Amino acid sequence: MKKSPAVFLDRDGVINHNIYYKDTDEWEAPRVPSDLVLIDKSLDGMKKLQKEGFLLFIVSNQSSYAKGKTTLQNLKAIHLQLMTLIVEEKISITDTFYCYHHPKGAVPSLSHFCKCRKPSPYFLFLAEKLYPIDLKHSYMIGDRDTDLLCAKQAGVCPIGIQPDHPLTKKNQKTSQSSIKDLLLASIHISYLKNACVKKSN
Ligand SMILES: [Mg+2]
Ligand SMILES: [Zn+2]
Repeated sequence: MKKSPAVFLDRDGVINHNIYYKDTDEWEAPRVPSDLVLIDKSLDGMKKLQKEGFLLFIVSNQSSYAKGKTTLQNLKAIHLQLMTLIVEEKISITDTFYCYHHPKGAVPSLSHFCKCRKPSPYFLFLAEKLYPIDLKHSYMIGDRDTDLLCAKQAGVCPIGIQPDHPLTKKNQKTSQSSIKDLLLASIHISYLKNACVKKSN
C-alpha cells in the first residue's frame, strides 16, 4: 500500500485559541464548549495541507479534567464541536489522539506519568502502526517546545508557530518561531515538500 505523508497538528494555540483563565493566571485549553474559538484561517491551513496530499492528525494534551478544572463531558463536547466545524469545511481528520493524563493531577485515575503525554512521541508511532503513513516525510505543527520535541523524537519535521497569546510567567515554553500561524505553516510545508521533490528528481 502506498504510504502518505502526514501532518500532526497540536490543537490549542494552533487550530483554536488558548483561553486566559483568572484562577490559574494561565493561557490554557478551552474548558467549556463556549470557550472554543477557532484561530483565523486555521481551517484554510488544514485545507491546504489536505490538498497537498497530507493525512491530518490532531495530537493534544488535555489535562484540564485530570487537574480538576473541568469535566470529561466538557472536553468531549469541545472535541465534537471542533470536529463539526472541521467537517463542515470538508476537511478530513484521519484520527485524533488526546492524552487526558497529568503527572500531578487531582483525579486519581488520570494522575500519573503516562506514555502518551507530549513530548512523548507515543501517539505518532501509534498512528504509524494504525495508518499507511510515511513518518519520514511527515511534519508536526505546534506552539510549544513539547510539540517540537515530540516531533524530533518521532523523526518527523518540527514546525513551530508563534504563541497566540502574550507570554506570562507560567507560559514561557512556547516555540521561538518566525511562522505566525497554521495557514503560514501550511504554506511553508508545501514549499518544503515541493523543494524536496524537485531535489530528488
Ligand atoms: Mg498548543
Ligand atoms: Zn497520557
